[in-house]
Amino acid sequence: MFIEPRVGNGREVPRRGWIEVVCGSMFSGKTEELIRRLNRAKIARQQVEIFKPALDTRYHEHDVVSHNANSIRSTPVALPQEMLLLASGCDVVGVDEAQFFDESLVDVCVQLANRGTRVIVAGLDMDYMGKPFGPVPALMAVAEYVTKVHAVCVRCGEIASYSFRIAASEDQILLGETDSYEARCRHCFLEGMKGKSPEAASVAAKH
Ligand SMILES: [Zn+2]
Repeated sequence: MFIEPRVGNGREVPRRGWIEVVCGSMFSGKTEELIRRLNRAKIARQQVEIFKPALDTRYHEHDVVSHNANSIRSTPVALPQEMLLLASGCDVVGVDEAQFFDESLVDVCVQLANRGTRVIVAGLDMDYMGKPFGPVPALMAVAEYVTKVHAVCVRCGEIASYSFRIAASEDQILLGETDSYEARCRHCFLEGMKGKSPEAASVAAKH
């Protein structure tokens, strides 16, 4: 677990930025961990801004909402570039559902960190096919701190790092919760993929 080494806003030295990534499967508590870190910064009276992709409107337009309804106010943005302007003057910037942004999110996070902002990014590291998802893998590479959180496999109770899609859709993006996905361990994920479409089965066969 990542423990913040230094979250002061630099009274003696200029403020220094860095990037933290909180990643994992669905139901792994990524958003809860993002909210925990952001709330602690808020308690310390740091200027905090939270962004999420405009397409993720499962709950409320302006809230990052975790599954346990522990919410924090956020701003939906269509493009990562918008954050550069909206986050000016912030000590801490949070980004939720990072996998839904395009690759330009990586450059935007680097720019924010370079200008002294602490950037905390939460997102799925793999899609429903078990493939690296959007800009998250590249963010993990450029981040100072990476925390991979896990769910519990609904089939066998092992540690789960895969988001298995129950619904039939083959789009990479399918918003939904317990009715569309379940957390699975590697073994149970592969077992489930064998029973799916030829494309999905071929993914499972490669493992
Ligand atoms: Zn399992």
